[in-house]
Amino acid sequence: TIILAFESSCDETSVALVKNGAEVLAQSTATQIKSHQRFGGVVPEVASRHHIEQIIGCLDDVFQASGLSYADLSAVAVTYGPGLVGALLVGLSAAKAVAFAHNLPLVPVNHMAGHIYAARYTAPLQFPALALLVSGGHTELVYLEKENDFKIIGETRDDACGEAFDKIGRVLGINYPAGKAVDELARRGKDTFHFPRAMEKEDNYDFSFSGLKSAFINTVHHADQVHEELSSADLAASFQQSVIDVLAQKTVRALHNYPVNQLILAGGVAANSGLRARLNEEIAAFPQVDLVKAPLQYCGDNAAMIGAAGYVAFKHATFGDLSLNADPSLEFDWLAAK
Ligand code: ATP
Ligand code: MG
Ligand code: FE
Repeated sequence: TIILAFESSCDETSVALVKNGAEVLAQSTATQIKSHQRFGGVVPEVASRHHIEQIIGCLDDVFQASGLSYADLSAVAVTYGPGLVGALLVGLSAAKAVAFAHNLPLVPVNHMAGHIYAARYTAPLQFPALALLVSGGHTELVYLEKENDFKIIGETRDDACGEAFDKIGRVLGINYPAGKAVDELARRGKDTFHFPRAMEKEDNYDFSFSGLKSAFINTVHHADQVHEELSSADLAASFQQSVIDVLAQKTVRALHNYPVNQLILAGGVAANSGLRARLNEEIAAFPQVDLVKAPLQYCGDNAAMIGAAGYVAFKHATFGDLSLNADPSLEFDWLAAK
């Protein structure tokens, strides 16, 4: 089964050809980060425009790189939410055009389910599973009893953790998106500031990052006022340690209460080296649970993950028709036919 997958929910235009939801035959991704950097974040109108300019090139790329043709396809999968409506519509229109022109089934995919299924490129998923889903817009613990059953057991009450990385990065003078650079900086510093660990004592699986962000910003501003030079590396390390501590603590609590076969780490922030190392350590206390981390190259937005999730939806015959619309605030209901 070969699936052509489209992803355009935010600032990455990505097209992939995926075999059996487990092998990437080709992928082409055009990023637009440079166009958004001077605004310090993604500008929706600019994003849509870029997707329109890039998507046909990406499509041509994957057929050229793989040597495949439309006749080899079994289905077309596409992200239809959550994300920016104008950006989503570009991928959706392209996917519908291909499906219509070549008489192929159209498979609607939830972007967040896609992030989780990126872990499929590390190992086959085994259920029940728990996913720590950490990205630019989401921070969630998701219990998957089976492959089409998503239950959010905990989530952030305010900022997403990728968003927090981007915001404190900005204070350190790092360009958007700052996560990777903060991660690298943190490796050269120490947790000397001991920023707060929010909601640690609370008996739930929820997160909060706005207090940490404020504490960070206040610390930097206060130092500026008294002309004190702070170590950027220590600031980054202290911030990151606080984020990792709360993510690890709530994940471990969930592992104690939900017997699962796998712990899946996915989403853009899953690329964080400190978080990956920490979960490697924590999982040792759960010998019956396999830690499955999405491969580094499939943590951020990409079409390969949409092809992986799309394959599962395809097997369940979850198809959309040409009336399929973008849903900017789509929840985990991806296997309900649209
Ligand atoms: P969502 O998936 O919630 O809709 P998104 O698609 O914008 O949001 P992703 O592409 O999954 O988010 O992830 C991007 C985020 O990941 C950014 O906030 C970025 O700073 C962060 N990020 C990337 N690499 C790292 C890293 N090594 N450490 C921490 N954060 C990182
Ligand atoms: Mg992105
Ligand atoms: Fe994403």
